[in-house]
Amino acid sequence: MAKLIAGNWKMNLSVNESIKLVEELKSQSFENDVAVIPPFTSLSSVSEILKKSDISLGAQNMHFEDSGAFTGEISPLMLKDIGCKYVLVGHSERRQIFGETDDLVNKKLKTAIKHGLIPILCIGETLEQREAKQQEEIIEAQIINALNGLKVNKKNIVIAYEPVWAIGTGKTATPDQAQEIHSFIRALLSDTKIRILYGGSVKPANASELLSQQDIDGALVGGAALKASDFSEIAKVF
Ligand code: PEP
Repeated sequence: MAKLIAGNWKMNLSVNESIKLVEELKSQSFENDVAVIPPFTSLSSVSEILKKSDISLGAQNMHFEDSGAFTGEISPLMLKDIGCKYVLVGHSERRQIFGETDDLVNKKLKTAIKHGLIPILCIGETLEQREAKQQEEIIEAQIINALNGLKVNKKNIVIAYEPVWAIGTGKTATPDQAQEIHSFIRALLSDTKIRILYGGSVKPANASELLSQQDIDGALVGGAALKASDFSEIAKVF
C-alpha cells in the first residue's frame, strides 16, 4: 500500500522560499501519498500551487474552536477554507514548549474530525521515559487520553510515532525499535488500518530501512523536508 510521507517545515521558510520548494516537489511524480506542512504564512501561496497536484496540504497547529475571540489562533474552518487536508496535533514541540496537554489534544482532535480535517496525532516518549523503560505505558496513556470519546478510523485520523529523543537530534530509532512501538500502537487501535507514521530524524539514508518495517505506514519528516532533493528521495521510497 502507498505510504504517506509528510513534510513538517516547522517555523522555517519565507513565502518565496516555500513557493520554490513546493514547485520543485510538484515537478516530480510520486507513487506514495505526499503532504507538505508549511508555516501558516505560506499556506495560501502553497495551496494555490498545489491546486492541480496530488500533493496534499497540511497545517502545523489549530485552535479547537470554530471562531471567536482567540487572538493569534487559527481555526479548523480557516484551514479547510484554505485547502488543508491534514493538521498536526500534539507535536512534541507544542507539548514541550507550549504546554499542550492530552486534554487540549483531545479537544483539537474532536473539532478537526468534526470538520473533516485529518489530524496527524503525534505521540512519543522522552529520553528519560525510554531509559526508565516506560515508553509503552506513556504511549498507551497518550493514545487513550487523546482519543477519549472519539470514533476513529483509517479515513479520519493518522498517528505519528515520534520518539522525542529522535526529533531534530540526528538520533533515529532503529528500525526494530520503531517497529516494536508501531505494532504496540496498532494493537491499541479499534481500526488496525489507521496509518501510523514514524518521525524522528528521517533522512534519505535511513528511510528505506524504516519504511520497510511491517507496521510503518509512512514518515513525518522535519529537517529533511526543507530540501527538495532529500524530501523527494524519502517520498520515493516505496
Ligand atoms: C518532526 O518535526 O516531526 C520531526 C520528525 O523532525 P526531524 O525529522 O527534524 O527530526
